[in-house]
Amino acid sequence: MATVYLNGQFLPIEEAHIPVLDRGFILGDGVYEVIPVYDRRPFRLHHHLDRLQHSMDGIRLANPHGADEWETLIGRIVAEAEWEDQGIYLQVTRGPAPRDQAFPKTVRPTVFVMASALSGPSAAVIRDGAAAITAEDNRWLRCDLKTISLLANVLLRQLSADAGCAETILIRDGWLTEGSASSVFVVRDGTVLAPPKSHLMLPGITYDVVLGLLAAEGLAHAVRPISADELYSADEIWITSSTKEITPVTRLDGRMVGNGQPGPMFEHMHNAYQAFKHQVMRGRNV
Ligand code: PMP
Repeated sequence: MATVYLNGQFLPIEEAHIPVLDRGFILGDGVYEVIPVYDRRPFRLHHHLDRLQHSMDGIRLANPHGADEWETLIGRIVAEAEWEDQGIYLQVTRGPAPRDQAFPKTVRPTVFVMASALSGPSAAVIRDGAAAITAEDNRWLRCDLKTISLLANVLLRQLSADAGCAETILIRDGWLTEGSASSVFVVRDGTVLAPPKSHLMLPGITYDVVLGLLAAEGLAHAVRPISADELYSADEIWITSSTKEITPVTRLDGRMVGNGQPGPMFEHMHNAYQAFKHQVMRGRNV
């Protein structure tokens, strides 16, 4: 039985319970993070903890733990899990309180951490790419916060699931924002393009890793708004996240992207990303 952390206790997941009046359950009032772990080493942990702080500040919830405490309790969940490669899910809600939208006077946050197996993109996806569809981005205007109120993302993602596709790529007012659960990169004429961070997209940790690797590899890249037309006529499209790493999208809305195969820029960056991960595993870079 997997060990999870709940409000100060490490216990089997079957024994972890929260009150039905938890504001996470009743109102979706909380934030979360997903942290990849390779060879039992959390990848970019402090970047994830900084983003957690940004999300908590954004919803005006005091962080119940300092970075050292988070590191200790995540470390114990990682150590007790059965997998070498893991996805750590952590969630903080505004805790149990009588149902009322306004904050309770006394907040007792609920803190939950669990591990699950992390497999990364399959060999078939790396070889052939994935299919995606596009949809109008109808989420709220604080997409930079990683909140557990994910209903808009859930409904948008289900559109692609219904179509047998891996992701829904979102367009707001004619501009690319991101995927329902990923950041999006576009390659045009040998240049890798990424939309600029704003309140309309999550600041992806993998997005930052990829931009850093593009610079280190000396590949042409630019961070600038990307129009829907530029997305539709891209040579390559990639979606990135802590669990998808860099995944090539080779079909968009039923049409081929480029020649329908993962492109040369993807191949280059896939290799660079794997090399970077292995450096992290050897403890040379976090
Ligand atoms: N955007 C959204 C909406 C996401 O849910 C995710 C996955 N957490 C990402 C982008 C990618 O973020 P990261 O690289 O930190 O996993």
